[in-house]
Amino acid sequence: MTQGNRTAVVAVGGNSLITDEFHQAIPDQYEAAVNTVKRVVDMMQSGWNIVLTHGSGPQVGYILRRSELAIAEVAPVPMDYADADIQGAVGYMFQRAFHNEFVKRGLPGHAIAIVSQVLVDPDDPAFANPTKPIGPQLDEATAKARGEKLGWIVKDDVGRGWRRVVPSPTPRKILELEQIKLLTANGFVVIACGGGGIPVIENEKKYLVGVEAVVDKDLASSLLASDLKADVFIITTGVDRVAINYGAPNEEWLDSLDLNRARELYDADHFDPGSMGPKVLAMINYLESGGAKGIITNPENLIKALDDKSGTRFFSR
Ligand code: ADP
Ligand code: MG
Repeated sequence: MTQGNRTAVVAVGGNSLITDEFHQAIPDQYEAAVNTVKRVVDMMQSGWNIVLTHGSGPQVGYILRRSELAIAEVAPVPMDYADADIQGAVGYMFQRAFHNEFVKRGLPGHAIAIVSQVLVDPDDPAFANPTKPIGPQLDEATAKARGEKLGWIVKDDVGRGWRRVVPSPTPRKILELEQIKLLTANGFVVIACGGGGIPVIENEKKYLVGVEAVVDKDLASSLLASDLKADVFIITTGVDRVAINYGAPNEEWLDSLDLNRARELYDADHFDPGSMGPKVLAMINYLESGGAKGIITNPENLIKALDDKSGTRFFSR
């Protein structure tokens, strides 16, 4: 494929690979990946270089659940390794989906998934206050027993039962950035920062150590888009647009948001911190670091959204 002259970072939601509760199996997730990849290859054919990132909330949950069920027989999978597992598995899924789409269209493209580590600050306040629930809901006694045995912090996710919680520190640096840049500059489609990247800290000797935490994939993707000076930063998710008063009778779907308005709404807690909040913050961070154009849409409307005919567009004015 000829090298395009514009770079797009496309962040694909982990939830969008699972279309509904009856399509959670791996072949179903692959089908969903293929549907997204088709639109991304359309973009490539109109001159975009692509760096694709992806979430992994549900998928990491499955790995950790398998690990828990097998606890009597095999040692549990630490979180950083679960992230690495998912980067491999979902990376493979996308790599194969791109390959097959290139073959189908007779295009000479190449995709490569990179195991990506993201540096976090050991003094990040998130470590003192783990908030991100992961894995299944448990009854109080089981949760406490597992917490004791495995060193987990468990909390009552009010109304939803007891769950393990892990810190969600701010991503500071994408450690494989140079590799990603080199590959992108050479025309490869790069799949990076899966699941937000594997969180690592530097010890006193500057050696990297994996931590039991999760990095938000929207924030990691935003950092990557800023570092790459991407011409557009797109987040695809389960909805075509961002709404204010989401789910309420006065719900309003937005075509565009300038930086000031996005900041204003974000600061006024208009967006749910567990879903749309980090996406809007990711857009704000990207624009504040000089980014040109951000888009939140669903995979189906990717091409229309690039033409400002769908999605919510973010700009700095
Ligand atoms: P992803 O896996 O893509 O990160 P999330 O479930 O974390 O998906 O977040 C996206 C979802 O958040 C949307 O599909 C929608 O159901 C929900 N949502 C919450 N608040 C809003 C909002 N203000 N506008 C639109 N969708 C919202
Ligand atoms: Mg999410």
